[in-house]
Amino acid sequence: MRSDARRLFCSSRNWDQISARWIWENIRNRCEKVCWHRLVWFPGHIPKLSLISWMAILDRLPTKDRLSRFGIIMDGGCGLCSSGLESRDHLFSDCVFAREVWTAILLACGLTRAPLSWSDSIHWLLLNLKGKSLLVLILKLAWTGFIYYIWEERNHRQFRGSHRSVGTVVSSIKESVRIKLYRSHMKRVDVVNRKLCID
Ligand SMILES: [Zn+2]
Repeated sequence: MRSDARRLFCSSRNWDQISARWIWENIRNRCEKVCWHRLVWFPGHIPKLSLISWMAILDRLPTKDRLSRFGIIMDGGCGLCSSGLESRDHLFSDCVFAREVWTAILLACGLTRAPLSWSDSIHWLLLNLKGKSLLVLILKLAWTGFIYYIWEERNHRQFRGSHRSVGTVVSSIKESVRIKLYRSHMKRVDVVNRKLCID
């Protein structure tokens, strides 16, 4: 990211103002109220990050649309599907690659659902991820895993030039959920629970 940082520094006319805080204040979106923090901060989230880390990732992701607003000029295209402008909403709901990943995760949980916009997805999650059933726990783990691995894949493609398939990313999410579940206490005799664990 050195070249991006260099452009950012060069675009500033007042060098005294440059600090980590100044950069942070310019990148983050002040107006956006994050009503979905409870979805990403609960015991057993993936990976083991603090609330502040999760909030920083989800609320202030340096997606290309935000970087361009910040004055960093770069290609704004989505690196996952090669079409569409990279924004949070695109990366996690509109992107074909991300949709295939999330659809596969839902199918593994026995759920089928038409693709939703980002705000509708959040609404759906808030509405449905309640209670302490195994399915709810798996969906919470899977969703945080989905956010993490989609962003990781975006970064790998952007900075490393490596590509993973939908199937590989789905496997990574499943494995991270599996590891977390292995430590949790659940009713293994429950038929639904057993099926979810096998899938
Ligand atoms: Zn895309």
